[in-house]
This record gives sequence, structure tokens and C-alpha cells, in this order.
Amino acid sequence: MREDLATRYEPAQFEKRIYDFWESGEYFTPVDDPERPKFSIVIPPPNVTGRLHIGHALVMTLQDVIVRWKRMSGFNTLWLPGTDHAGIATQMVVDRELQKQGISRFDIGREKFLEKVWEWKDQHRTFIKDQLARLGCSCDWTRERFTLDEGLSRAVRHVFVRLYEDGLIYRDVAMVNWCPSCRTAISDIEVDYRERNAKLYYIEYPVVGSDRRLVVATTRPETMLGDTAVAVHPDDDRYKDLIGGEVLLPIANRRIPIIGDAILVDPEFGTGVVKVTPAHDKNDYEAGLRNQLPQIQVIDETGRMTEAAGAEFKGLDRFEVRKRVLQELQIGGFLKEVKEYVHSVGVHGRCDTDIEPMISRQWFVKIEPLAKPATEVVRNGTIQIIPQTWEATYFNWMENIHDWTISRQLWWGHRVPASYCDNGHVIVSETDPVSCPQCGSKNLTQDTDVLDTWFSSGLWPFSTMGWPEKTPDLQTFYPTDVLITGFDILFFWVARMIMFGLRFTGRAPFTQVFLNGLVRDEHGEKMSKTKGNVIDPLDVVEEVGADALRFTLAINASGRDIPLGKSKIASYSAFVNKIWNASRFAMMHIDTDLKNAGAIDRDALGTVERWILSRLNAATRDVNKALSIFRFDEAASTLYQFFWHEFCDWYIEMVKPVLLGKHGTDEDRKRAKRVLLEVLDRSLRLLHPFMPFVTEEIWLKLGGIEPSVMVAPYPIAEDLDDSEAERLIRAVQSTITTVRNVRAERGFTPKDRFTLFVTVTNEREAAFFDAYSYLLNELARLDATNVNQAIPEGAHHDVVGGFPIAIIFPEKVVTQEQLDRVRREIEGANKELAALDAKLANEQFVSRAPAAVVESARARQAELRARIEKLMQNQ
Ligand SMILES: [Zn+2]
Ligand SMILES: [Zn+2]
Repeated sequence: MREDLATRYEPAQFEKRIYDFWESGEYFTPVDDPERPKFSIVIPPPNVTGRLHIGHALVMTLQDVIVRWKRMSGFNTLWLPGTDHAGIATQMVVDRELQKQGISRFDIGREKFLEKVWEWKDQHRTFIKDQLARLGCSCDWTRERFTLDEGLSRAVRHVFVRLYEDGLIYRDVAMVNWCPSCRTAISDIEVDYRERNAKLYYIEYPVVGSDRRLVVATTRPETMLGDTAVAVHPDDDRYKDLIGGEVLLPIANRRIPIIGDAILVDPEFGTGVVKVTPAHDKNDYEAGLRNQLPQIQVIDETGRMTEAAGAEFKGLDRFEVRKRVLQELQIGGFLKEVKEYVHSVGVHGRCDTDIEPMISRQWFVKIEPLAKPATEVVRNGTIQIIPQTWEATYFNWMENIHDWTISRQLWWGHRVPASYCDNGHVIVSETDPVSCPQCGSKNLTQDTDVLDTWFSSGLWPFSTMGWPEKTPDLQTFYPTDVLITGFDILFFWVARMIMFGLRFTGRAPFTQVFLNGLVRDEHGEKMSKTKGNVIDPLDVVEEVGADALRFTLAINASGRDIPLGKSKIASYSAFVNKIWNASRFAMMHIDTDLKNAGAIDRDALGTVERWILSRLNAATRDVNKALSIFRFDEAASTLYQFFWHEFCDWYIEMVKPVLLGKHGTDEDRKRAKRVLLEVLDRSLRLLHPFMPFVTEEIWLKLGGIEPSVMVAPYPIAEDLDDSEAERLIRAVQSTITTVRNVRAERGFTPKDRFTLFVTVTNEREAAFFDAYSYLLNELARLDATNVNQAIPEGAHHDVVGGFPIAIIFPEKVVTQEQLDRVRREIEGANKELAALDAKLANEQFVSRAPAAVVESARARQAELRARIEKLMQNQ
């Protein structure tokens, strides 16, 4: 039985109920059907404690669109969800919580702190799931994983040990990026570079045994306390003779050598003399190794000065010491000059702390043997990156990649599976060792470091399916099909999954990668809390429902950045309302359910019915095609155009006279209702991946055979294209539009009756216009439509859709009011045209907006020009 729809569209009334219905019906879980092709996708795991932002909403929506589309298209579909322990991010969150209570993690120690983090994690256990449920994501929650759960931890350890045994993981002392606030090493790609206005200080170092002074320039004078040489270019005639001599380092009063180093020094740059601080600068570190210079660490892991910096500075913050050093230099007469200087500073993006290059012992992954095959699979097309423009970026990065620092001096994460015996042997093994295999010592200490969080997420596509065990899931669902994620984690995550996937499973972990752009505000600005332009996806869901948000995101998703404002969301919210109201209207007239509707008698269809089915068929073809190439924008706008501007604006208006009994036989009415049901049913199914909730709520009431629209077949295009019906109905639409325009242009009201004359060249066309004259008369408010009859004088002539037409309208006196109305309309049209002209003259818009948007703006521009011309003629 068919039920009625609620009068008003109120998503809060049904979204939760429907999600529960899906989940309890196990529609998210793949079916055990070997006949079906599989389709699998893994979620980019959000931070376990995080609140989803608009970027997540976009990525999740696009995944759900694809997954629902594939599921309805007959695939055995798995969308595997889960969360990331997100090492540093989570540790910082819990740290901050503790700080609010006046506790530092160092006060309570590692074990207690980890207990707190697990507590926190458990409290937020369903946090991500609840948010994804609100968006309508059809993830299989029975397979939910967490990067720190037992199975995944085993996979991490297995990979570490194998890479170590293969010589691809090593421990070494090296200069790394150090965050003094987080007190950990971080990898190169975790460093953000920010332009900053700074000062360049010129400091004089007196040459020992001479009156000369060498001038060095630095932005970080405090590091001079750790200088162990000054360097010049060996061929520089200005300084050549000084090489081998010494300078007296001011403040520290140490003698340090003057060395020649052709790699470190560019004689054209600055004074041609540089200070060398091997312990606190990457280039100086290398130069120090080349020249066997001592490394004096003057800044410690918390950003404070060490004993080696001198007793007066010990324990002080590095920036405080900068001021004091400058003062002393000034007093001593060593500060020659200070210049304004703009340079880029490495900052830890998570905490906004300036990176301190630091020499320390860390674990590294030797990356080249992993990067090479990962580059090759993209080059040879095994993995396709979409939009393709990202491939160049990928190659460039992979070819210039450095070894990956994987150890972090954090507490939250996978502990490095290495132990050390008291004889200095290193033991790396899958299980915790009890004694040293080399010397038998039982005195073992485990490495205190944890692994970079991307180490575990790099295994995500297969560790989540039970690898290294040979599980049925791995067999069925690995490799996955497509990875949908933000371009910002192409290197952090995507590249590493490709490397690890190839190395450990011998296969690329996915065949396609779709990278979506950034969601910006409506002016194209990055959203940020400080700017106050953030759109919170869950607030939007609260206000207008998940479907409007999802549709807005999808129709704007072309792979490029997305400008998003409240007005856009409002206009697609209006579309959801339109769907609701049109469905309600249709359902008032449809008196059967889908189960008992019977097949459509194709031979008995009228032209209007053939037309709408042909248009629906075209939309079906376009949507499937667009989704197959990840043009979410095109798929969604096809549906928007079809449903609103063809189905609602025209088709429903055209069948109203028949449905309401004003025209046609009972047979006609029955047929019209059947076709109406057909179009509604198919439209809902086509729309479902984009708007799962509203389509389900309506579709269930149509009483189909399937228990849910999400498992009903996705429509595919059939052999239903009907160019003749399309041509004829287009002519009817154009005629109606022309009559309406003439009416407005000449200042007539809808009450003034016109008469229409149509000239056709064959019997079929004549029969068509005869049969559908009621439509023209009704929709264009005509007294009569005459086919192939003599046209009286004084008619307005036009040609629409290839048919000459003539319109006869009554004699009338034009009033001032009517003239004013025309004038106002001209003004309005001119204003819109001016705005469009400006938009289309804007290079940025034309080159960056989707082609369809530019095209439709051009069409509107032409339409407005023609309209203004006509209005002017009639003034
Ligand atoms: Zn930090
Ligand atoms: Zn040992």
C-alpha cells in the first residue's frame, strides 16, 4: 500500500529514523554473493576524537555518492570505516585538557598519561560514527577499525621488522626538524614554511692577530653561541689569505677557525662570510661533517639554552636569549648593522612553534627503494590520479624525496619495536624479547619513541582487512578500487599507502585516486576560525538537513577548490523542498504502488510521455557517465536540471489537465499516472546517492519490491531516446515561452486571450499540434490553436523549433502603467546583463569555473540581449 507524505519537508523528523533503518537492515554490509563484482573503498580515517569539518563533509559525501551508486548498480560493496589515533594531534588535545586542570603530562608520567588518552578515546568512541551517520554515510560499521587496535598494531610491527631486516629501516644520528613545544622530531612534510618580517643582523668577528673583522649576517644571533667556525669561499680573493686562521667569537670568547668551503658559501651573497653552527642548522651540519667541526648544542629539546651556551644564558628561552645576545653585541661594538628582512621560517603547523633544527638519534625509512615502484605505478597507469594535473606534482615530489624520519618523541602511538641490551645491541622483533640474542643479556630497555602516525595509516587499505593474515576480506576486497581524499594528504598518506601496498602485498592498494579541492568561503578565502567564515557541516545538517548539504557539496565538486556560502546551501535546500513538494503532488494522483503498477505499454504512449521518458533516459545516461569519471558536479547538475526544469516546470504542468480530468479519456489518465509514477521512481533512485534520506523517505511510500531504495537497482539508460518527441515538445515549450514573452513585452495581462497559428509541413506534425492544442491553450492562455490555417493580418510572426507561428492579440490601449512595467523590465534585464558581462570578462571566472557554468552564463547573456532588444522594439 502507498502511504501519504507529510505536508512539509522536515528532515529532522526522519533522517535519524532512516539511518537506523538502514543500519539495522544491514544494508551497509556487503552481501555474500560471489556472482557480483566487488567494489571497495576505505575511508580516510579521521582523528578519533575530532569534530568533522566541512572538508571532511565533502570527502565523506563524495565517497558515499560513489559507494551508493555502485551498490545500487549491483556491486558487492564495502566502504570500510575507521579512525586514526593521530599521534601528535590527539596527544595535544589530551595534553591541553590536562593543562586546564593544571597538570602537565610530565608530572604524571608516560603510563598514567596513556591511560588518560585511552579514557579520552573511549569517551569519544562513537563520536566519529555519530557524525558520519548524520551525513548519511553508508559505511559498514561491523568492520570499523582503529589504527591502534590489536590487529593493526600487529601489522605495524610486522612491517617495521620486515623493513628493518631488509635494511630499509635504520637508526642514525642526523639533523632533524625538532618542535620544542611538542618535544619531538617531525618529518620534512610536517614543516610549514611561513613568510615573516624579520631582521638580518650583521655581526663582526675579530680576526685573531689582526685588526680585521669578518662580518657575518644572521637572523638568529643566539645561535652564534654554538658557532664552531666561520667559512668563506676558497677562491674568494677578499678572504683567501685568512683561511687557516682564527676569529674570536664575541660573547663566548672562544677562538674558532676560518675555513674554506665551496659548497656552503656563495661569495656573491651577503658579505661572503658565513658563521657555521653545525648543531643548529641543516647546511651547517653538513659543512661541519665535511670539515670535522665540533657540534656544540646550545639549545635543548625544549627550546631553552644549554650549559654550553654559557652560564649566563643557561635555561633561558631561545627568543629571550636573542635579545640579550644582541644587547651584549651592541655594548661590545660587534653589532655592525641591522636590516629589515623577509624570509620564510619553518613552523610546526600543529602548534605554530618555530622549528629548531636539532641533531638527534632517530629511526628512518630508506625511501628510494619504496618511492621508485610507487612512482612507476602512476607513470604506467596502474594507478590513475584524478584530476590528472596532480600527477606532475606527485612525480616531482617522489623524485626529490628524502629518507623519512619515522620516530617521534611522543607517548601516544605505536611504540618502536626495538630494544637495547646493556652491551649496546639492538633487538628488533615482532614479539617483545626476553633476552639479547647476541649476548644473552636479560637487561633490556625498550625504545621510548613511537612511530609517525602516517606509518600506520600507510598500511590502512590492507591492515584494516586483517593483513598479514590471509583473510577472506583481503581476498575479496583488496586491492580497493578508488581512494577519495583531499589533495593536502597526497604525500602524507596516499604516496605512503602506495609504497607500502606495493612492498607488502605486491599490488597497488587502489586503482584510482580522486583528489578533491579545498572548500573555501564564498569569496574564495580559506575558512578559518580567526576570520569567522567557517561553515560547520553539522550545524548545516541541523538547519536544513543532510541532503541539502550533500547536494551542495556534490554539485560543486569538480576536483577544484569550492567556494561555499550559505546562499548556495539555501538554494539547494530549496531544491530538496521542490523534490518533496513535487513528489507529494504526484502521489496525490498516483493510485497504485510500484509493486502493482504493471509494465508501461510503450506503444500506447503519447508524445508528452515519450518526451519525458526520453529526457529521463538522457539524464540517466549522463549521470552514470559523469559518476564513472568522478564528475560529481556534472552528475548532480544533470539531475537538478532534469528534475526541476523538465519534470517539475514542464512535465507536471503538462499532465495536470489530464490528471485533473480536464482533458483526455480515462485511459489517458491511467497512462499519465503510470508514467508519472515511473518518472518519480526513477528520479528518486537516480537522486538517491546524492540525497539518501529524502529519497528513501519518499520512495518507501511508493511501495516497491525492494525493502529500501538503497538496494533498488540504479537506473541505466535504455533504448528510449525519442528525438521526434523531443523536437515536438521543444517546439511546444518554445511556443509557450514566446507567447508569454509577447504578452509581457506588449503589456498584456494573463487574462488577455490570444490566438495561435502554427504552420507545419506534414501529417504527423499536424496531428500532433491538433492533439496537443489543449496544452498550448492551457499553458499559453490561448483561445485557440489553429494548424495550417490562413493567418489574419496584424499578427506577430515568429519561428520556434523550426515551426513558423503567428500570434493574434486583441486591440488594446497601452496604459502608462503597462509602459512603466516594460521599462522596469528593461532596467532589470540590463542590470542582470551588466553583471553577467562583467563576470564573463573576468579571466579567472572563465578559466576556473566548470565549463557547464560558463556555458550557461553565456546562454543567459545571449537570452538577455535578445529579450532587451524585443522589449525596446515594443516600447
Ligand atoms: Zn609542535
Ligand atoms: Zn646484547
